[in-house]
Amino acid sequence: MRAGCSADAASPIEAVREGLLFVITGASGVGKGTLRSRLLQRADLFYSVSWTTREPRPGERDGTDYRFVDRAQFLGELRSQGFLEHAEFVGHLYGTPRAPVAAALAQGRDVLLEIEVQGAAQVAAHFPQAVLIFILPPNLEELRRRLIRRGTEASERIEQRLARAAEELRSFADFHYLVINDQVERAADDLVAIVRAEHLRSRRYQPKTSAPAPNSPL
Ligand code: 5GP
Repeated sequence: MRAGCSADAASPIEAVREGLLFVITGASGVGKGTLRSRLLQRADLFYSVSWTTREPRPGERDGTDYRFVDRAQFLGELRSQGFLEHAEFVGHLYGTPRAPVAAALAQGRDVLLEIEVQGAAQVAAHFPQAVLIFILPPNLEELRRRLIRRGTEASERIEQRLARAAEELRSFADFHYLVINDQVERAADDLVAIVRAEHLRSRRYQPKTSAPAPNSPL
């Protein structure tokens, strides 16, 4: 996807170098993972692989889906300020490693985080320019059905995740964009549109130092 509004060498403006930070949040089971992969297929974003203390689910790969670590490793990293944000979610720790995200942004790459609400609030506090996107289920009953269908959690954990979802839904107004995941393709289109729109914001641009002055006859 072409990012930004002008690639022309003669353009009087240029994009600022730093990449954009996109944060996707939404209840467990809302389909964030699917939407994230659709977005990554269609837009050039660096996906930040989180650390977690939970066990891998069947098919999940260390280093791709998560970095799976034990609690001691996680806490060690936390003590050495290795996380941009972190949170406890239904008995497990999750965190975004700071260094890869900072490096990608500094290289001008856009970054995508997929994290829960508390983590999103921490990111917003440190990066006021971060773009916060909240994914909503069509309704809570559908969310329950999706969690049961996914079959990765025991029923007690499903209830905990649903309770957390109901709580998280209350913070939707703290996010910049809402995307309802009733149809995956449409929700993915919405995400692509958000990335594109954010690239067109005027604050993403600066005058080129070599550009002619505004009143120049050129
Ligand atoms: P799951 O166990 O279903 O993979 O993830 C549980 C919740 O933790 C999801 O809402 C997911 O988005 C969130 N999560 C995943 N990685 C991180 C992270 O690095 N930080 C925070 N705060 N939440 C995360």
